[in-house]
Amino acid sequence: MNDHNLAKPVAAIISTGDELVTGRTVDTNATFIAERLGAIGIEVCSVITVGDYPDRIVWAWQHSLAHADVVISTGGLGPTADDLTSESVARVAGTQLKLDQSEAERIRQHFQKVGRPMPENNLKQALFPIGAEIVPNKLGTAAGYRLVVPMNERRPVAVVLPGVPREMKAMLEDQVIPWLLQQAPEDRCTLSRTFQTFGMSESALDEALEGAIDPSKGRLSFRASFPQVSVRVTVTDTRTDAEHRLDGLAQIVRERLGAAVIAEGETTMEEVVGKLLREHRRTLTVAESCSGGLVGNRITNVPGSSDYFVGGVIAYSNELKQRLLGVQERTLTTHGAVSEETAREMALGARRATGADLGIATTGIAGPDGGTAEKPVGTVAIALAADGLDDGVRSRVYRLWGNREWVKLLTSQVALDWVRRYLLGLDPLTSVFGMRGRKR
Ligand code: AMP
Ligand code: MG
Repeated sequence: MNDHNLAKPVAAIISTGDELVTGRTVDTNATFIAERLGAIGIEVCSVITVGDYPDRIVWAWQHSLAHADVVISTGGLGPTADDLTSESVARVAGTQLKLDQSEAERIRQHFQKVGRPMPENNLKQALFPIGAEIVPNKLGTAAGYRLVVPMNERRPVAVVLPGVPREMKAMLEDQVIPWLLQQAPEDRCTLSRTFQTFGMSESALDEALEGAIDPSKGRLSFRASFPQVSVRVTVTDTRTDAEHRLDGLAQIVRERLGAAVIAEGETTMEEVVGKLLREHRRTLTVAESCSGGLVGNRITNVPGSSDYFVGGVIAYSNELKQRLLGVQERTLTTHGAVSEETAREMALGARRATGADLGIATTGIAGPDGGTAEKPVGTVAIALAADGLDDGVRSRVYRLWGNREWVKLLTSQVALDWVRRYLLGLDPLTSVFGMRGRKR
């Protein structure tokens, strides 16, 4: 086992299928596998997508095996003539395909169970390169396998899985990942911690964390999932040392990023806001124009939100802003519906009407039309009315970007971030995402 480096392997991924290279099917398998490997600290050196041509499949395997200790492939294990993975892997490994009797029997039984005659070509799925160790497929007919493929001095391992995402995922989780973890020396483990951030771009995060983590001690990775960016720290060591070191590195990340860190793990912004409102025993109301109820929607996506969310108003028209929220006609004619002044009156009005402790308001131009030179598409005013603020209200104009959907989503995110920051005892104006407007 020592001659392939599986204690700390480098992996490569191959996705096989014409539908993937023509763009008809999105290659979700590769991203899933890469994510799962990353989570256990295994680096992926390449992802190759290749169509159903024997020479190209062989080419992809030769490249991948030349650079990686373990190559995980999906696709091309079907019964049809265009499924060519096993022939190609056997060719690269310099071996032949051989029928596995017990797999052949399993496939026969599978067809018997579903009461259909078995097409002869299905037996093709019981052909494996000589020397392969079968990775059973509980959900379908195509079993996968592992095969050591000697390459000069090295002995990388091919892991071949079917393309159907549901089957592939189950096999990866239940069999391949545990097998990979077993290859590492017993006292070594890989631990990671993820932070959700908002308000800083990936490059700003990278800059803020520059030099924070010695690459030999831990790895930092960033992932943007709009409008948040997650930062992950990964450490590989003996269990005790890894836990200890990870605690230390996590502390450094928290210190460097400050309030940009919303939460640890997979927690959402609305969950964080809900938790804070509950902890501080405060209630929230919304006065939403351009976000069209999205803030309320997100807040109420969290179970138990009735403990702190009283409801609100979607005041899209000027008339409703006046009638339900008490926005002054003069404010609308002097400053416009998209202005800090209107947002302030909306937030104060919602609080007055509902008696909630916090009132958050949004008014803006989501586009694609309606922008002007002074107030282009993406101009959004946010206001928060709450005790402890000057005049009981804070406001600011943001210059957000993207299409209509993005502007709405970003608006809701900034609004929720204001509530979060206020409850943390910070000035909501420290939420500087997309900030171009003036302070007030
Ligand atoms: P195959 O094992 O090549 O017969 O693939 C079976 C089915 O799985 C294909 O028809 C695709 O719909 C799906 N599939 C194959 N590869 C991928 C992939 N990389 N990502 C997502 N779906 C895939
Ligand atoms: Mg295919």
